[in-house]
Amino acid sequence: MMMDEDRAKDDDDSGGNFDDVNEDKNDGDRFFCKNPTERWADVDPLCARAGSGIFTDVDDFDGEGDGFSPDPSLLSLVRENIKVLVVGAGGLGCELLKDLTLSGFKHIDVIDMDTIDVSNLNRQFLFTEEDVGEPKATRAARAVNRRVRGAKVTGHYKRIEDMEDNWYRQFHVVVMGLDSIEARRYINKVYCSFLEFERESGEAREGTWTPLIDGGTEGFKGHARVIIPGKTPCFECTTWLFPPQTTFPLCTIAETPRSAAHCIEHAKIVQFPEEYTDEKEGGVKGGSGGGVTFDGDNPDHVTWVYKRALKRAESFGIPGVTYNHTLGVVKNIVPAIPSTNAIVSAYCAFEAFKIATGCLKSMDNYVMYAGSDKVYQNLMKLYKDEGCSQCGRGLFVQRVFDLEEATLADVLDAIESEHENTFGKREKEKEEDNVKKKDNKEGDKKEKDDMMDTAKGITGVSTDGATVWMGGVLASQYEENLSKLASDVFSVTIVANDDEEEKDDDESTRNKKTVVEKTIHVNSAKLPSPLRVGLVFEAKSRTRRKTSKEGKERERERERR
Ligand SMILES: [Zn+2]
Repeated sequence: MMMDEDRAKDDDDSGGNFDDVNEDKNDGDRFFCKNPTERWADVDPLCARAGSGIFTDVDDFDGEGDGFSPDPSLLSLVRENIKVLVVGAGGLGCELLKDLTLSGFKHIDVIDMDTIDVSNLNRQFLFTEEDVGEPKATRAARAVNRRVRGAKVTGHYKRIEDMEDNWYRQFHVVVMGLDSIEARRYINKVYCSFLEFERESGEAREGTWTPLIDGGTEGFKGHARVIIPGKTPCFECTTWLFPPQTTFPLCTIAETPRSAAHCIEHAKIVQFPEEYTDEKEGGVKGGSGGGVTFDGDNPDHVTWVYKRALKRAESFGIPGVTYNHTLGVVKNIVPAIPSTNAIVSAYCAFEAFKIATGCLKSMDNYVMYAGSDKVYQNLMKLYKDEGCSQCGRGLFVQRVFDLEEATLADVLDAIESEHENTFGKREKEKEEDNVKKKDNKEGDKKEKDDMMDTAKGITGVSTDGATVWMGGVLASQYEENLSKLASDVFSVTIVANDDEEEKDDDESTRNKKTVVEKTIHVNSAKLPSPLRVGLVFEAKSRTRRKTSKEGKERERERERR
């Protein structure tokens, strides 16, 4: 993997300066932009012209901001300072890398765990035949660096789960070109976990969110959306957008088919096991009882299903059953349409540009595109689920913990007792309850349920992506953390600032309490995913043994003087 990344860098023979349009005039043919002197001619006016700002303020998602002031230097900000992460280097990812670099984004990282297949080449235009079998991410990065002068695209042939939280934190905007809901949920989870909330107002704290832009395509349909974690709905808020699309109720398939796909599913699920006979194998029947099971890779099977589906469709007057459509339905293949990728990518790249510069208001917050019969697009506003486990403000613990004394066990106890309804009853009370219920001679089933639920309310605690406590079978591995100082386990430090240092000289303020907030993630058997929990630690500055690095350095400097 490292070798590939290195190779991608070595192959970066683009040379030249991203902004300097006058050099290498003669090899303009190599670049997407044929006339280098007009390289940013279409992008520049967006930030340089007055009036475009009447729509906008990047920090104001309610639409009532103090507006945008045109400033040509915004473009150099985009070029030099904004770091973009592109997740996925497939059909959409290739388009995104092209669109983003040609919009002026220079520092881009792209991550993808796939290698290039020959069937990708029709639409994943950054790859050629010689790339087949190579990682998509590094090859896409190399191709863009070669074609777009000065672009610094870095490819990572990795799984998204393999990267550390700190790696994800370096980006200013994330653009997703993924085909899997699970991968989207993972990226969503990572960035939502960085959120912090104001204790008083419950608002997401400025600077703790990273905008996520998501594109998706399926055949002639596509969508783009902008997620500002903590501000606009995240993936988990709107999981209802992704119903299982390829399964149909059996009754519909059997009784009232309305589409070609219904007929194909019927032929595959109902007719094939009952009626199929394999002549080659001497008349082996279809079906689960030792017979032939349907195989989507077997052309005989697919042809058989296609013919039966066609017959059925005709009897119901339904058009559209073809061999290719049959193959698509039985193998769950969605055709990839290059033009849909191009359109969705354009939405996404422009949203990234708007966020980076503030030149126009962000899309609020979901656009769908359909291009199969006619071209149709619709912008709609999705709403946040205030109780969302990922982007919601979560819970706060009222008790204030002593930085020097509170152990992890103390913290867990406090969370459980303050939020009993969320994390489940605590062990002790549950035992008492069980005794009571036994006395009451309630049904066996209920007793059994209680027995299943005897684990302590909290089953897991994590901070900054690392697990510090786990219940169940792994409890023994984390046992020792329980008696440790919570401030150590959660890496809570009090950062001394200049004001405080000056006050150190004054005896009366030395006992002043210093307070620090910490967000952790807590899971319980009752919750589908970990919940954010805000804690407050306090320390007396007199015994301040934890100072920031900067603080220590300043102290040393003072000693030297
Ligand atoms: Zn959410």
